[in-house]
Amino acid sequence: MPDNKRADDHLLGDMDAETFRQNGYALVNWIAEYLATSDHYPVLSQSKPGEIRAALPKDPPVKGTSFENIFKDFDDILLPGITHWNHPGFFGYFAISASAPGVLAEFLSAALNVQAMLWRTSPSATELEEVTLSWLRQLLGLPDCYEAVIYDTASIASLHALTAARHRAIPDVGTRGLAGRRELGMLRIYASEQAHSSIDKVAMTLGLGHNAIRKIPVDAEFKLRPDVLQKTIEADIAKGEIPIAVVATVGTTSTTSVDPVGAISSICAEKRIWLHVDAAYAGSAALVPDTHNILDGCSQADSLVVNPHKWLFTPFDLSAFYCRHMDIVRSAFSLTPDYLQTPEAGKVKNLMDTGVQLGRRFRALKLWAVIRYFGSDGLRDRLADHMRLAKLFAKWVDESEDFERTAPVPLSVVCFRARGNSEDEADTDLLNEQLLERINTNGEVFLSHTRLNGRFTLRLAIGHIRTTDKHVRRAWELLVKHRNLIVG
Ligand SMILES: *Cc1c(COP(=O)(O)O)cnc(C)c1O
Repeated sequence: MPDNKRADDHLLGDMDAETFRQNGYALVNWIAEYLATSDHYPVLSQSKPGEIRAALPKDPPVKGTSFENIFKDFDDILLPGITHWNHPGFFGYFAISASAPGVLAEFLSAALNVQAMLWRTSPSATELEEVTLSWLRQLLGLPDCYEAVIYDTASIASLHALTAARHRAIPDVGTRGLAGRRELGMLRIYASEQAHSSIDKVAMTLGLGHNAIRKIPVDAEFKLRPDVLQKTIEADIAKGEIPIAVVATVGTTSTTSVDPVGAISSICAEKRIWLHVDAAYAGSAALVPDTHNILDGCSQADSLVVNPHKWLFTPFDLSAFYCRHMDIVRSAFSLTPDYLQTPEAGKVKNLMDTGVQLGRRFRALKLWAVIRYFGSDGLRDRLADHMRLAKLFAKWVDESEDFERTAPVPLSVVCFRARGNSEDEADTDLLNEQLLERINTNGEVFLSHTRLNGRFTLRLAIGHIRTTDKHVRRAWELLVKHRNLIVG
């Protein structure tokens, strides 16, 4: 055989079914083992910048290869460059989990390769999304006046919320845009100084600019101050500026503080300003009896986002967006070229109308699988257990002379810092930076940090489905041990 002839030149199709089956079984075995033993890996990848890239060929392969070989490279080269978000010792940022039923549903979704832009391009995708988001809405205790849609992330959900708010405030913005319109005053968005950076990105994307955001100060518990909000809005209106929206946060990213949404909502109602609630992480807490009222005050909000990919065991990505005026979202975004006209128009929802993107994945499948598998009881018990673990850790911090807590613990995140011998705050910052670095290179657990009142603060976030007392206790032991080693 001449060596430029490939053995499988006669095969133009995909991998055959038998080969798929064998590779698939092997892969499922690997995943089952991984999910059960992910805590054997260092949580934070120990890889150096550029190391993974250097281990991969620069040029694309000319000849194909077997999936066994591809998997071998994954195992040898890529796995060391993975930071294990699905590790029960992951306590950084917001700890998340891809639970097993969600992983299986994601596999199925990949096989179907559904693109749910129109109802007819998969009626199940559109209708399951509607039903599953209605289940979630009921679990969160939100009223049924909300229509809902799934996006990839909270950042994108907030982009849609604030686009709709801009559209309501300036109805011809879709046709005339904003550029060169001197008749329009400065457009304003209000959010607390603890609000998520995605709100800033939205302002930049919408052509309002970063400066359009009024960062409202917070109280001692990091909650937006409604008195300052009210005064700021009134002063802006008096200057001829146009308030478009207020963003309230339920569960801020640094400390999980909860803005007083009821009071904010009254201000918005009085001034007819769009209220968007960012409950990306903390919304799920509404399932738990102790915190079931966390979304109180949100029932008047114009829109709200909660991320099942954050604290509801759904594989990344899946963000649920609830809106009272989805008609405004649709009028901001629907635009149907002739080739997408369908005979069902008017009788069904076409998901492409509720946002920027045309194509959309069949994400509802994984959320549906997660809610069905665990049931609301199972979800509630797991979330409640995370809060119990956070309270336990906070108690250890409070009882220790060598550590102090830096924020209240309303949910499953603890902000704290080590104390050293120095009275100088800058020395204490440095101690905590070093401590964090040591803990994270150790590999058993992973924590992240934030800054509160200008001071470097450690942050332990509990949210992984397999995290137990053992993992939280280990994090504490390591913190105590390494603090003592540094302080000496
Ligand atoms: C995580 C988070 C976001 C961003 O979430 P993405 O889904 O990654 O865009 C926004 N707001 C808050 C409060 C968050 O905690």
